Order: sequence, then C-alpha cells, then structure tokens
Amino acid sequence: MEDYEVKCYLKAGEAASKALKEACSLVHEGVPVKELCEKAEAVIRSLGAQPAFPCNVSIDSVAAHYTALADDEAVVPKGSLVKIDVGAHVDGYIGDVAATVSLSEAWEPLLEAAKVALKSALEIVKPGVSMVRLGGAIEGAIKAYGFKPIRNLTGHGLSRFNLHSGISVPNVKTGEGVIEDGAAYAIEPFATNGAGYVVNSETTVIYRYVGGKKVKDKAAKELLEEVWRRFNGLPFTERWLVDKYPLSELRKLVKLLVDARALYCYPVLVEGRGGMVSQFECTVILVEGECIVTTPQEWIKT
Ligand code: MN
Ligand code: MN
Repeated sequence: MEDYEVKCYLKAGEAASKALKEACSLVHEGVPVKELCEKAEAVIRSLGAQPAFPCNVSIDSVAAHYTALADDEAVVPKGSLVKIDVGAHVDGYIGDVAATVSLSEAWEPLLEAAKVALKSALEIVKPGVSMVRLGGAIEGAIKAYGFKPIRNLTGHGLSRFNLHSGISVPNVKTGEGVIEDGAAYAIEPFATNGAGYVVNSETTVIYRYVGGKKVKDKAAKELLEEVWRRFNGLPFTERWLVDKYPLSELRKLVKLLVDARALYCYPVLVEGRGGMVSQFECTVILVEGECIVTTPQEWIKT
C-alpha cells in the first residue's frame, strides 16, 4: 500500500471515529434521529473528509441501513438499543466504524457480545489469516454470551470509492480466502437474541448510483448526473439533496430512477424474528504485514 493511500485511510478513519464518538455521546431518550445523523456528518466534513455513506442510526431490531429522512421526526425511544454506523472518506479511501449504545441494562450483555467478538477478530487479524478463522472467532465469542451472530451480514473489503470490494469478512465460521497484505477491511460483528439473520423491510432510505442510459425523463436524468458528481458512486440519501430539490419532487424522481434500475436500493434490514441487535465495527489496513486499525475507539487497544 502506497504512503498516500495510508495517509488518506488514516485521516478518513480518524474523522469517522470522531464523528461516531460525538454521535454516541448525544444518544439519549428523546433525541431526534435526524440530529444524530446531521451531527455525525458535520463532524466528518469539519475534519476535511466527506461522509462515505449517510450516518446509519439503527434502533432495536433494526440491524442496518436506516438514516434520517429529510423530514424525519423519529426520536430515540426509552430503553432502546442504538447502533450508530459512520463512514468517512478522503479522496475515496474509506473509514467505516460503528458502535452500539444501550439505554437499558437489559441489553448490556448483547452489546458486550458484539464488542468482544470484534476484539477477538482484531487479536488474530493479519495477512494470511483465513476468513473461516476470523468468522469462527466472531461466532465463538458471540455464542459464548448465549447469543447468535447475524449470519447474513458481513464485514467487507474496502477499495477506493468502493464500500464493498467484493470480499466478505464473515460473522460465522465460513467464507473464502485470506486477509491480504496491502488491503483494507471493515470487520463488523452483529449479535442478536433473535433468529440470527436479517430480512429486508419495505422501507428504503439509502441509494447508490448504478447508471442508466435508458432514463428518458429529463429531470430524473439531471438528478442522476448530480448524484454521480456529488457522491462518486457511494451511497447517499435524500437529506443530502434537499438543498437543490423540493422534497416531494426529489422523492418522485428518486422513485423513477429506482424503477428504471438507475439507482440501487439498500432496504432497511431487520432481524428475522424481531430480536434485538448489537453491532461494533472498525476498519483495518494491512501494511507490510502489520495490521493498523484506522478507526480508533477508546475500548480498542492499539
Ligand atoms: Mn459500517
Ligand atoms: Mn461496514
């Protein structure tokens, strides 16, 4: 990995971690979800990075892919389990980091399970370590708490302007390939007291550019071009476009682009049996045989 890439990964990771810390510190009963998202994204921008995807705030049995709508009025409920997942990039090099905040003692063991699972993975990650072994370490740690890992959510390889390089880092003892030197990975165990898998909900609030030569509608085509220019193929949400479009118009155009398959949808993911879900995540880069955590969190020993 080139020095420039390392520098960008470290800067992005630091911005993402600071944004995560800020958002986590604001989590309490009654705080608007939109405020959490906007604060996190503002911290990223203030540190010379850009959000790599909309700040995810996923509550209780929602596992991932929820971010505040432009007119979102949801607030953090009493006694809830709140996952915050933040991404930042510097020139396309991404830091992806997440943590869980519990507003009830009841969810503390579940929170710990995901955290200890990530620690277990970090203890063994280095070039040549197999995905099966990493997934096994994560699965073992979560099961030791009496919970299940979410088997159809995985960590992932990262590459420039690409949140998922095609390599998966499993949360159960399975998978293919090994950790490669010179590469970047997000490792993200999810633990649940439910079924151990997620399903798509009916809701989608996050999208990504795919491209569409077939889009005929002029306004929709312009929005698609705008999305490419601003977000470079990384995920985005309507909050990031209401500066330029009235909300009702924007929603109409987004729907048109989704129907034309010019935009990819990320449906909100919910636990298969409605179980509570916890998550911790960090990004690592492998540089000359050494593993560097680019997204520091206080509980990670470096
Ligand atoms: Mn993430
Ligand atoms: Mn991730």
